[in-house]
Amino acid sequence: MSENNILVFIENNNGNVNVNVNVLQVSLELISKATELAKTLNVKVCGVILGFNFHLQNEMLENIAHYGLDEIYVIDDPRLKHFTSIPYAKAISALIRKLNPNIVLFGATTTGRDIAPRIASELKCGLTADCTDLQLGEYTIKNKTYQNTLLQIRPAFGGNIMATIVSPDSSPSMATVREGVMRLNSVDPNKKAIIVNEKLSDLNVFDSDFQTEVVEIILKEKSVDLKNAKIIVAAGMGASSEGAITLIKDLARTLGGEVAGSRPVIDAGVLTKDHQVGQTGITVRPTLYIACGISGQIQHRAGMEEAKRILAINKDPNAPIFSIAHYSIVGDVMDVIPKIISAYKNKL
Ligand SMILES: Cc1cc2nc3c(=O)[nH]c(=O)nc-3n(C[C@H](O)[C@H](O)[C@H](O)COP(=O)(O)OP(=O)(O)OC[C@H]3O[C@@H](n4cnc5c(N)ncnc54)[C@H](O)[C@@H]3O)c2cc1C
Repeated sequence: MSENNILVFIENNNGNVNVNVNVLQVSLELISKATELAKTLNVKVCGVILGFNFHLQNEMLENIAHYGLDEIYVIDDPRLKHFTSIPYAKAISALIRKLNPNIVLFGATTTGRDIAPRIASELKCGLTADCTDLQLGEYTIKNKTYQNTLLQIRPAFGGNIMATIVSPDSSPSMATVREGVMRLNSVDPNKKAIIVNEKLSDLNVFDSDFQTEVVEIILKEKSVDLKNAKIIVAAGMGASSEGAITLIKDLARTLGGEVAGSRPVIDAGVLTKDHQVGQTGITVRPTLYIACGISGQIQHRAGMEEAKRILAINKDPNAPIFSIAHYSIVGDVMDVIPKIISAYKNKL
């Protein structure tokens, strides 16, 4: 393999279930973004996947390749059945040393956030967490100009500014990105990847590195699926009373949508954390997002402004949410929501 390619960590639920391995959506989104960057850099997109029993999962590997992978590095070992930090971080660090990629991308998941800093520390390279965009551009410092360096863009200072972070002097540039932030490529069934099998021992990972034994994994069912929801009805502090939440749930049920909330609504314990939309919550792209009693601060908008259509209901005509809304209703949620429900039901 030639150097300077882009490497994506392909995260999967291997070991968590007894059925087929499922690759996390965020990994597919990262492959999609990597294909865009790779086109400009004229390099390949490679993936690394770790776990056990991938030899039974050839179809799965072929399917991920359809998103744009040129090469897949497979590290298949019974000891990798469950994720543990040290072996994963050591194996990926050794692979990066071997392949010498220019850019390495991880999902900002619990696993990604665990191993990416360990790898960055091992390789003494830069890592930017929770990027909301990745671009390539020119960067000049002390009369030295770097072409096509990775511009890692993310909110900083409480979301009040967008910072562009570069690490051109340390290779590779590494970033984590949250699920839902990057757009998915359409699948190309003709795209094929070269599969390269790697052995743990060749990557300097030995029995002594397996210091943690995972006895059992208990999966907690999510109470809401905001990622795949076409319609989301979101409650802000202006719609957080018991009566307003009942109306919001009623509207979501009527429209066949899901209920979400702004961070203060979650912090107040009105809805659980998996309902939170925004910079520190989930990023969503529904067809319709109904923002009820939400002021529209930048940290909330970061998670929902890519919705196809936004309907905002707020009693303050100057609320910032109206500047991004496609449809605006100035009024009290307690008056407006029952009218929407009744109008919708009467039209059916
Ligand atoms: C580091 C950091 C990360 C953050 N992450 C997130 C995040 O992920 N998600 C997030 O949401 N926030 C986040 N925040 C908080 C964010 O800054 C705002 O405080 C928050 O989004 C405001 O929530 P809100 O709009 O529900 O409440 P408010 O700002 O209090 O707005 C309430 C709105 O309701 C309207 N209203 C009141 N009563 C009614 C009524 N009866 N009918 C109609 N309208 C009414 C008011 O006019 C007002 O516009 C973060 C903040 C920081 C510093």
